[in-house]
Amino acid sequence: MRRLRSSVMPAILAVAVLPVTIGFAELSRAQGTNSSAAENVTVYRNGRIYTNDPESPWASAMLVRGEKILAVGDDDEVTALADKGAQIVDLEKHFVMPGFNDAHVHLGGAGEDWLAVRLNGVQSVAELQKRVADGVARHKEGEWITGSGWDHTFWPDKKFPNRQQLDAVSPKNPLILTHISGHVAVANSLALQLAGITKATPNPAGGEIEKDDAGEPTGMLKEGAAMKLVWSKIPSPTMEQRRKGIDLALADVAKNGVTSVQDNSAWEDFLTYRAIKNDGKLSVRITEWLPFAAPLEKLEKMRREGGTTDPWLRTGALKLVSDGALGSRTAAMLAPYSDDSSTSGIMTMEPKRIKALAIERDKAGFQLNFHAIGDRANRVSLDAFEAVAKANGPRDRRDRIEHAQIVALSDIPRFARLQVIASMQPSHQTSDMRWAESRVGPERIKGGYAWATMQKFGVRLAFGTDYDVEPISPFRGLYACVTRELPTGDPQGGWQPQEKISLADCIRAYTSGSAFGEFMEGKKGELKAGEFADFIVLSNDLTKVEPREYTNTKVLRTVVGGRTVYLSN
Ligand SMILES: [Zn+2]
Repeated sequence: MRRLRSSVMPAILAVAVLPVTIGFAELSRAQGTNSSAAENVTVYRNGRIYTNDPESPWASAMLVRGEKILAVGDDDEVTALADKGAQIVDLEKHFVMPGFNDAHVHLGGAGEDWLAVRLNGVQSVAELQKRVADGVARHKEGEWITGSGWDHTFWPDKKFPNRQQLDAVSPKNPLILTHISGHVAVANSLALQLAGITKATPNPAGGEIEKDDAGEPTGMLKEGAAMKLVWSKIPSPTMEQRRKGIDLALADVAKNGVTSVQDNSAWEDFLTYRAIKNDGKLSVRITEWLPFAAPLEKLEKMRREGGTTDPWLRTGALKLVSDGALGSRTAAMLAPYSDDSSTSGIMTMEPKRIKALAIERDKAGFQLNFHAIGDRANRVSLDAFEAVAKANGPRDRRDRIEHAQIVALSDIPRFARLQVIASMQPSHQTSDMRWAESRVGPERIKGGYAWATMQKFGVRLAFGTDYDVEPISPFRGLYACVTRELPTGDPQGGWQPQEKISLADCIRAYTSGSAFGEFMEGKKGELKAGEFADFIVLSNDLTKVEPREYTNTKVLRTVVGGRTVYLSN
């Protein structure tokens, strides 16, 4: 078979064609796995399989045994390789592709947000109450509940809510709901009571505790100084709460066709993933980043304890947030902002210290991963990586810049020269295009979200979403790649349209490109013999529908390591 090229294939195939009972038992023992998927052989056939393998991009059938793909080809040749006992799945001509590997997520934060009450878009106090009541149902009596996103200017009376309205739906759970602006919040009576806020409490400096005509607190707390009185009483989540939120986030991830994530969360979250894995319920492969600035001995301990070899859950690069964000004008720029000449943004750490820590941590064998949004932060990061290579000599280190949003055009070739991976989020471009140019002006924007230019210079791309800053759906990213338009179709022809890239390039950056960014190329990201059986079945053939249909695409099935972790109904 033309596609069976891997050198390990002949041996594996020899076992595969043995009678079912012998072959499987031996294999399970040989692989030393307790996963039930290791027992299974499945033929997926009658599909339109996009392999993302440039040498052989299309197939109709796949043979999967345990965690891995054994063969890819046409229906007859693949079926002929399977034992009699193999399970057959009819793909019903649906489009199949490698699962997405989101190169940048915050699963722990997403979990917290899944437990919190989401109030964006509520149109009245009644609707807010309804959502709070749903949130109360997800919590135990007495547990704190947080929420955010409400905006009273959309409501008929445009009045702030009050504690009595919250008490009506949350009498036994302390509750605080932050306004969409982040500047004010409303708390219920129990939360005020636990924070010791009464009639007699004076306003803190820089904040206000709103009071009614009788002098009683209304529940509204204005500015951080006042909100903090309540926030400071909220305990950090228990492992049980963490698990509950992460389970919801994982379900969201699987439902959206994402089979691997590269994650920036707390160590407690990592331990939660491990507990989920030990229960046999992990539905996505996770590589966890560690905090760059932590003491080196601590990082080495985390690496030892978290491991680096389990393809389901392991530790990876060291993450540094080197600057802020463009929207709030805190991204570090080489020159002042075009719409506010008083600021050039901020670096979170002295460039000299970044360089010194980078050299030390690289020497200890860590991959480095710097969040850099502004052109100054990008240059400082590249300078640090250059200094690292000079100090510690050549090595396959795969340093990464996360976001690489606004890059000086002269720095783009440096990414390629220093072999720095640009880990970018296409849907950030969708969210930012309305105001990005006003922040940096018409010249600097030419190096903004510059996927095509990056590719032209041979820079390796790894794509993701920054979930849950953006929704996890990769289809929004695909749409951004090929159109650079808002979902409404504006601006027609795309914003900075010269930076559009093709669907195939976008998929590659989002699968094998992300895999390369975590040293997993050849193991996942393509559907070919020897790689993990991580794939998705979609309602739309992405190569045939109009780009505007991408975001209407439904994931019908998500398979990770041969195990179906999501099936649509
Ligand atoms: Zn992030």
